[in-house]
Amino acid sequence: MIRPLPPLFIIGSPIGHSLSPLLHNAALHQLGIPLSYEAIEIRMDELQDLIREVRLSNVVGFNVTIPHKETIIPLLDKFDESARRIGAVNTVVKDDRGLIGYNTDIDGVEQTLAPYRSSIMRTSALLIGAGGAARALVYVLKHSFGVLKFSLATRSVKKAESLISDLEIENAEIIPWEEFRQLRSHNAKLMINATPLGMHPRVDESPLGSSFRFTPNQIAFDVVYRPEKPLFLRHAERNGSSIITGLPMLLHQAVASFKLWTGKEMPLSHATEVLLHTLSKIE
Ligand code: NAP
Repeated sequence: MIRPLPPLFIIGSPIGHSLSPLLHNAALHQLGIPLSYEAIEIRMDELQDLIREVRLSNVVGFNVTIPHKETIIPLLDKFDESARRIGAVNTVVKDDRGLIGYNTDIDGVEQTLAPYRSSIMRTSALLIGAGGAARALVYVLKHSFGVLKFSLATRSVKKAESLISDLEIENAEIIPWEEFRQLRSHNAKLMINATPLGMHPRVDESPLGSSFRFTPNQIAFDVVYRPEKPLFLRHAERNGSSIITGLPMLLHQAVASFKLWTGKEMPLSHATEVLLHTLSKIE
């Protein structure tokens, strides 16, 4: 663990792929805010110690990513309404009330899907994965886009069941992982990868089986943002579907977290420029 802790950081495991330090440091620098943001690898068994250390340090706040978005909940003091209802936290603010959990992935999903509103409204969605990102997606699709039917393809049926029950989803099917990997097609309008499959450095992985075919009227969305077009999206594009990359979600959730910590708007065009420039060099 890093000692002393920086004022802002992201925890996860693995965390090497994260572009959040780049985004937040560019914005902090641009606005002349004397804070820094780092990525810290934290395994499950280190989470409690980290939180103890946060309470003793001059930390402003931090982001939470895979695999801690749900397990961190019992370690925090308060939650905003959306994080409580979703059951996943991606942003923590430290203030005089203690450690407060928020979910800005919701903002990321809302903003990313807004341009596709008329195509998505009151349709159906298949989500691959049932973790923190999937929870934010299902919440937004249900409440803002009136999605009528959800299919969840996951390794852990139990996890899918608790997502369905916590988010009070009425029309849902669970597709066990082995069965999903054999599918040749699915009729959901929106096909979403909410697993880390395809994320740098394991760019040859896809959640789909080799015989799967998208249809041209489907929309594929991948939360993985590095590479910008993971295998899942390249597969969808080859089959003629529309695609949505994970970068807008990354940017918009970062904007919302930045505002919670600093009270300031992240300069989005500068942050986007820095992000795209870096991606073009590393991919
Ligand atoms: P999480 O809460 O740990 O959930 C991960 C989900 O993926 C779980 O359902 C997990 O299943 C499944 N999974 C993991 N490895 C798998 C594998 N090898 N095969 C099949 N399923 C697998 O993580 P998260 O926070 O939701 O993040 C998921 C991904 O989304 C990460 O790559 C993260 O970087 C990305 N993300 C991107 C954005 C963005 O702004 N674009 C925002 C949030 C997250 P098990 O429970 O069986 O392990």
